[in-house]
Amino acid sequence: MNATDPDFAALRRAMVKLQIAGRGIHDGRVLEAMARVPREVFVPAHLADEACEDHPLPIGHGQTISQPYIVALMAEALELTGRERVLDIGTGSGYAAAVLASLALEVYSIERIPELADLARRNLDAAGFSQVHVMCGDGTLGWPEAAPFDGICVAAGAPVVPDSLKQQLTIGGRLVIPVGPEHSVQQLTVLTRRSEHDYQQENFGDVRFVPLLGEEGWP
Ligand code: SAH
Repeated sequence: MNATDPDFAALRRAMVKLQIAGRGIHDGRVLEAMARVPREVFVPAHLADEACEDHPLPIGHGQTISQPYIVALMAEALELTGRERVLDIGTGSGYAAAVLASLALEVYSIERIPELADLARRNLDAAGFSQVHVMCGDGTLGWPEAAPFDGICVAAGAPVVPDSLKQQLTIGGRLVIPVGPEHSVQQLTVLTRRSEHDYQQENFGDVRFVPLLGEEGWP
């Protein structure tokens, strides 16, 4: 390390303490993953110094890497123990996929913009997460060949919960997704599949995401 290089590990520890634990995230595995995954690898190089700041950052193509707290909140909502197969929709930079891969057994991630799917692949490889499966396609339809999933994490706002995603959850599985108007505030919604046709719904508060575009999302 050069004397002028930022100490990213220290910045991540401060991020976890102030923004994540400090705001009520208490799952120890989530806190550990957020401290360990090198967020600076997933942001554009010229923004590396801002990687741990408390807001989203642009990643190109009009998209953003989510605010660290929101990634932690969604990861905690999935209640992962390390044995799960997880589907991540809206790969973007690949950062959330890396956090989920630190918490679950297997992660499948879908991104609709080809350039971002490529970027995420490179970022994940560079950060040591080559085991994450990345596909370019319409995530509103899920990943039928790899289904069912114990957890599904959607990082873009949907008009309603896509039926294909509900169908690809295991019984007991959890789906976290922002639902609400296209360019406004959404409700972070968590569905737990209780049985074949029974889903329990919880609301985790207001969030603001880019729109989920696709067959079962926005046109
Ligand atoms: N999880 C990302 C943040 C993603 S922002 C990260 O950690 O960096 C939301 C992403 O969802 C954008 O990259 C956008 O292109 C993508 N997206 C929007 N609609 C989609 C769809 N139907 N399928 C897959 N990706 C979609």
